[in-house]
Amino acid sequence: MGSNTNLPPKPWIETPLIRSTALSREAGCNIFLKLENLQPSGSFKSRAVGNLMSKAIARHGPSHPIHFYCSSGGNAGLACATAAISLQRPATIVVPLSTSPLMISKLRTLGADVKQVGNHWSEADTYMREELIGGDKDGVYVPPFDHVDVWEGNGTLVDEVERQMCGYGGYDAIVASVGGGGLFAGIMAGLSKHGRLEGGGLKGVKVMAVETEGAHSLALSLEKGELSRLGAITSIATSLGATQVANQAFEWAKRKEVTSCIFSDAEAAMGAVYFADDERIVVEAACGVSLASAYNDTLRTVLFPDVSDEEFSKLNVVIVVCGGSNITLDMLEKYKQEYAKDERVVQKFHSRRLASETL
Ligand SMILES: *Cc1c(COP(=O)(O)O)cnc(C)c1O
Repeated sequence: MGSNTNLPPKPWIETPLIRSTALSREAGCNIFLKLENLQPSGSFKSRAVGNLMSKAIARHGPSHPIHFYCSSGGNAGLACATAAISLQRPATIVVPLSTSPLMISKLRTLGADVKQVGNHWSEADTYMREELIGGDKDGVYVPPFDHVDVWEGNGTLVDEVERQMCGYGGYDAIVASVGGGGLFAGIMAGLSKHGRLEGGGLKGVKVMAVETEGAHSLALSLEKGELSRLGAITSIATSLGATQVANQAFEWAKRKEVTSCIFSDAEAAMGAVYFADDERIVVEAACGVSLASAYNDTLRTVLFPDVSDEEFSKLNVVIVVCGGSNITLDMLEKYKQEYAKDERVVQKFHSRRLASETL
């Protein structure tokens, strides 16, 4: 084969970055899409847990038996099961009984050993740690967002963006969704590494960290001035449903390059619906919330309030299309019925939408 080393292939790919004419017209500046939905597992989690799993194998040596354990019925579980195939190691995914049949069936299709235990994630996680990993000397725990190897994996996205945006004269901002903050922390570490934060020497890049109302654990911590926990997750964007962010994400978020934004479930859902129409790409509401930044006017009014319209139109903004597998055409149709006429969507989304709704 092409390589003479025995290292297994990386469980993630370099994704394309494209300029979106439709979203650029909506936003009034140049919108570029970093297409993480194309990762083998359907989301950027292939980078996050893929890097953690690759490093675990490298640390133990290639012939050492490792068994991976992940307690996520979401995209982290899918990424673990998908990476386990390419790394040729077994994976057990323990999920609570509330996990959607759609995700369970996707996990089973990947050949993972799926166990349903407990009513909440914490019960599934405790069972996995105590009953499974506790008794398996080859067991490796795969955390979804709070680990340095996860941040390093997510940071590879910035390495690619740096190269891909070169021909466009660089980029001015990057927009990403925040759940537990693993993606965000990885992006910040990547930007820092490439000298894009203050004092780094190169052109500075602003970061918009977006959450849905009801999954706004980062915004809550910023508001309280200390790491804080949401009482419950009430948003439809379940992939953003970490009640508390990683401390590292909170620390990065205090920097002045970062703007934290909360959008409604309606905006997140309609972001995904309009994106499917505009780009023919289907993503979760957890991703739709980042896309909503192009459909409402926050890039202009919140991120770049001090530039002229002329200057704004020349700016390059990269939206991380984080992807997600917990979505079907049927769900998009239901979002449309429930949220298309939502008052805040109608008020905040671009007027072109309003015009077309009333035709
Ligand atoms: C996990 C996930 C997020 C949130 O990522 P964090 O690293 O937890 O902040 C956002 N969108 C999708 C599709 C995800 O799978």
